[in-house]
Amino acid sequence: MAKRIYVAYTGGTIGMKPTDSGYAPGDNLMALLSEKLPADVMKSLPEFELFEYEQLIDSSNIRPDNWKQIASDIAARYEDYDGFVVLHGTDTMAYSCSMMSFMLQNLNKPVIFTGSQIPLCEARTDGLENFVGALSVATDDRIKEVCLYFNGRLMRGNRSRKLNAYWFDAFDSPNYPWLGRADIHIELNEQLLWQSQGKETFLLDCDSDPHVLPLCLFPGITAQWLETAFQQPYSAFILRTYGTGNGPDQDQELLKVLTDASAKGKVIVNQTQCHRGTVRQGSYAAGSALARTGMVSGYDATPEALFCKLHHLFSMGMSPKQVREQIGINLCGELSQ
Ligand code: ASP
Repeated sequence: MAKRIYVAYTGGTIGMKPTDSGYAPGDNLMALLSEKLPADVMKSLPEFELFEYEQLIDSSNIRPDNWKQIASDIAARYEDYDGFVVLHGTDTMAYSCSMMSFMLQNLNKPVIFTGSQIPLCEARTDGLENFVGALSVATDDRIKEVCLYFNGRLMRGNRSRKLNAYWFDAFDSPNYPWLGRADIHIELNEQLLWQSQGKETFLLDCDSDPHVLPLCLFPGITAQWLETAFQQPYSAFILRTYGTGNGPDQDQELLKVLTDASAKGKVIVNQTQCHRGTVRQGSYAAGSALARTGMVSGYDATPEALFCKLHHLFSMGMSPKQVREQIGINLCGELSQ
């Protein structure tokens, strides 16, 4: 039987139009696609239905409520389609893919995010290839996870990052190999695909207010600076440290601020500022000191995946103790653990 794909158009460059203040979200994407794709080409594509969101956004406006909308939308139509494509702005696509991987677990069908660097309305658009590629990938029933497809690369959604604001190769997956490539043929690295652990588990709770504050170590950071940050009303803090998870272990005052915050129930996760690699808090004395304050390792999760995982776990109502435990567990391919 022919596969049917659901396409959710949430906004982003792919459907944008030029305005006096630069590109802005544009509606009626189906008309634009029909203009760009001759009828016989359109007919050769997998069968799809495009649903355009009422409020199309530049993805820089993404909020947890948008994640709830996208996840609920897919969950509500899950039985009716064989695969799902989400058209999304590239700026925060890595966050949204990550969030979907936590909200839509044990998928048995593909959910493929894509978008473009140049809008479909422009001559040099990369949107057509990305759209058609994502649509084809979404018919492949070997894929049972949330992926990001862009410029011929198929990546695990919660491993992907936007790393280039200008290239068509905007995305990469620094800590996990690509799941596949679309050249003349679409080839998957089957052994890398996520295997669902049972029946679909849709965990659609997603609190509107953020739970997580990302922080970054910098040379000369003071205990007072950190203390002020920990007074903010967040449940979790991602501290982006140096190298394998190291920090200023000679600053006893700063270590005390970290210890006190953890003791008060703040979840503080150690994430490296490095682009590739993993946190190993015991590799150096400067990392062991952080571990002794109660900080937990974020291992090799991307900043986007870690942010979304923490938001997801707190939205599920978990206690700080439970969240600390879950951070080290590979829930849906986000960690190499
Ligand atoms: N600002 C745009 C967005 O994220 C960028 C893009 O889609 O490429 O919506």
